Amino acid sequence: MKRCKVCRRKPKLERRLNSEGILFCSDDCYEDFDNSPDDFSHPYIDDYEAVRFEYIEWMKSYEDDLYKYWLFGSPKKTDLIEAIESVVEEF
Ligand SMILES: [Zn+2]
Repeated sequence: MKRCKVCRRKPKLERRLNSEGILFCSDDCYEDFDNSPDDFSHPYIDDYEAVRFEYIEWMKSYEDDLYKYWLFGSPKKTDLIEAIESVVEEF
């Protein structure tokens, strides 16, 4: 598995890439790396940030969410699917 370019730890959930495909374990390491190109002028930077944010939020809460869906039964499953679809549609 690839390691963070800055601290050499194994990146987990909050990993990110710069526009050259270099891997970082976190926003902090990403900001500590001086040789990045100017990612914030990249045409897709807003989408990347938004998708990454949604992904991290989902990964943090999906187990709880699934448990809730399981507790309250199948009608809630459609809510979950709609929530996923609304994120997908945005991009
Ligand atoms: Zn790191």
